Amino acid sequence: MYATLGRIFDQTVSKLPDKEAIVDLRRGYRWTYLQWDAEVNRLANALTAAGVEKGDRVSTYLFNNIELPTAMFACAKIGAIFNPINFRLKSEELAFILTDASPKIVLFEEALKEPVAAIQADFPNIGFWFIDAETPDYAKNYNEITQSSPTGKPAVEVEETDTYAIMYTSGTTGRPKGVIHRHRDMAEQSLVCIALLKYTPKDIGLVAAPMFHCAELHCNIIPRVQSGASSIIMHQFHPAIALDIIHKEGITVMFAVPTMWSMMAQMEGAASKVDTLRCGLYGAAPMAPVLVKQVKEILGIDLIQAYGQTEMGPAITFLAEDEQLTKAGSAGRAAYNHEIRIVQPNEDGPSEPDAILKPGEVGEIIVRGPSMMVGYFNRPDATEKALYKGWYHSSDLGFMDEDGYLYVADRVDDMIISGGENIYPREVEDVLHEHEAVMDVAVLGMPDEKWGESVLAFIVSKDPSLTAEELEEFCVKNENLARFKRPRHYRFVDELPRNASGKIQKFLLREQKIESGSNS
Ligand code: ATP
Repeated sequence: MYATLGRIFDQTVSKLPDKEAIVDLRRGYRWTYLQWDAEVNRLANALTAAGVEKGDRVSTYLFNNIELPTAMFACAKIGAIFNPINFRLKSEELAFILTDASPKIVLFEEALKEPVAAIQADFPNIGFWFIDAETPDYAKNYNEITQSSPTGKPAVEVEETDTYAIMYTSGTTGRPKGVIHRHRDMAEQSLVCIALLKYTPKDIGLVAAPMFHCAELHCNIIPRVQSGASSIIMHQFHPAIALDIIHKEGITVMFAVPTMWSMMAQMEGAASKVDTLRCGLYGAAPMAPVLVKQVKEILGIDLIQAYGQTEMGPAITFLAEDEQLTKAGSAGRAAYNHEIRIVQPNEDGPSEPDAILKPGEVGEIIVRGPSMMVGYFNRPDATEKALYKGWYHSSDLGFMDEDGYLYVADRVDDMIISGGENIYPREVEDVLHEHEAVMDVAVLGMPDEKWGESVLAFIVSKDPSLTAEELEEFCVKNENLARFKRPRHYRFVDELPRNASGKIQKFLLREQKIESGSNS
């Protein structure tokens, strides 16, 4: 009954009404909790007036804008289901999600007009609300609708077991799946993050990572609201601009995906801009230990790592600031109330939760905890597999050390089998990252007549004269990289395809690899 997102919000509004709550730098809005509450209620009432009822979906297709968390809280107050859509999706993928989630209303913005224009005629029952000035003729203007809407609190009873959101996975391994979370799941995750990240009302968080992803919403924005802290939204990430904002606004906490931290560390004068930052969090994708060390050396920040999945709300492990060196390469220990097991992978179906492996043995990471999803929307088959016997099966491989620290080896599908030996691309990537001329790297398997698969490394180099021979020599010298793990082929590329949450899209590299072979 208690733990709903609407109640979490209302509690802070009543405790800290005049505290600055949220800032949208693109628009120049700076709202206190009381002002934000009025805007949330306006939208909640406007949605109700437009026919949105408890259980209906409301989608956002936005970059980072104040309307996104405003819509999240507005939905929570009327029991509507919030559905934030990845702004990187193109029309066809957007249409897939709109068909699957069938929302009543979609909020979108200027920069995303084209993909919406391409598909809106196929969705005559959806109301498209436009948040910027010149509204296209197929949409309604958000500001006009909300300005005339009342600011009183909506009178809808919402339970903690009601669905709060449907969040689509990144689609790194196939079509995105709609993850169903209840109010209670999000509230549990919020408390875990408050405890571990030590949020207080004095904190000012920079929202630079994509807000449609649950890492930014559940580990950062919601816990900050619950703690009475503030959030400052930048529309789209740029390393130099982010550093200026940190400096000017006195930012104390920030979540960023690994590439964002690396980009900031490479900016000239970066160290002088981050004095106020007491907590830097990363997750959503692996970060080579050498890059974590670089951030520490250049920015003077000990990063905290979180590991998890949208399905788990997302964070299930944390590696604290003071464990970065003693447990380098680990993703940390289980978050409060979460359990993790490493089990024997099963090729014919979901792994058995009781087939537990010993410390040091690599197997599938399975996990359970209070913020685990209810299931996938419209996908009972996938739900049954993923939540087999009450454990979420992550499809990630990893091992646990004697102290209960988790090491994520790689995704099951990315593992390379060469001459019967298992190779985890991440291990090879971490070694190549240590070469001073390597800016970015992705390792994958390529078909090999003799070995079944052989190791191929895609390299983004800082130095155009870097050669495959030099990298081979570097790998030979590395005592930790067995001979069979060394790349047999190198391809030099200008950049690696990454999705909005910083993950390398290896399926795109696989297509490239097959089309053009290697240039080693
Ligand atoms: P899909 O299921 O559609 O393929 P996805 O799994 O990419 O999408 P997310 O929930 O965004 O969707 O990503 C979760 C995955 O991200 C984890 O299973 C893991 O592979 C990776 N990941 C997250 N955090 C970390 C981390 N700290 N270190 C290594 N990998 C991480």
